[in-house]
Amino acid sequence: MKQVTLAAKVDKDKCTGCKICTKVCPVLSITVENKKAVVNESDCRACGNCEQRCPFYAIKMVPREIPMKIGIDVSKFDKEKIKEICTKAHFNPEQVLCYCTGVRADEVAASILAGADTPEKVSLMTGIRTGCTIECIQPILRILDAAGHELKPVEGGWQWYGKTATAWTVPKDVTEKYNSRGFYFEEDKELLDDIAKIDMEGRKSNNA
Ligand code: SF4
Ligand code: SF4
Repeated sequence: MKQVTLAAKVDKDKCTGCKICTKVCPVLSITVENKKAVVNESDCRACGNCEQRCPFYAIKMVPREIPMKIGIDVSKFDKEKIKEICTKAHFNPEQVLCYCTGVRADEVAASILAGADTPEKVSLMTGIRTGCTIECIQPILRILDAAGHELKPVEGGWQWYGKTATAWTVPKDVTEKYNSRGFYFEEDKELLDDIAKIDMEGRKSNNA
């Protein structure tokens, strides 16, 4: 669980209504009304995307009057089910997926077991940030897919650009072509799947 102590605040004098902030918010908590951005503070996860991307410096992160707790208690969910979903998506449950917020694969899987079926809902439950559009969104999509959810954009969801290819989905003729050019798809897959299967808890207790 995490404490959210900040929230995004719009300076209406500086806001031009350009809507860029609405496109980078992972939980869709910003709308533009009468050409001014409005933040739904109760949904804001304080990721800071909007502050970083507003070209007019019209958003600042400010302290919340009352800090808010977010996150998912992984221990309340079936551990084997979480492991199964993560392994199917080729992630170790303890793997950190979002370097900005430290959200792990098991938290994303648990949020899906708790009912999240879109990246936006996963972000609301876990606080995972998708605004960089590089790191977090792909693992979220892969885990949603592994859990059997159809991947389709929600209305107003701008982070969406679909699942990209992974070492497991590259066609055989491509892997064969590039194997002789310094790419080692089979070895990469084997190594990544080995990492996904490491039982870190077991290893810790063996080393204790
Ligand atoms: S990105 Fe900045 S200027 Fe544009 S709508 Fe959002 S707050 Fe206003
Ligand atoms: S982009 Fe992040 S900081 Fe800005 S409103 Fe959305 S959740 Fe809050």
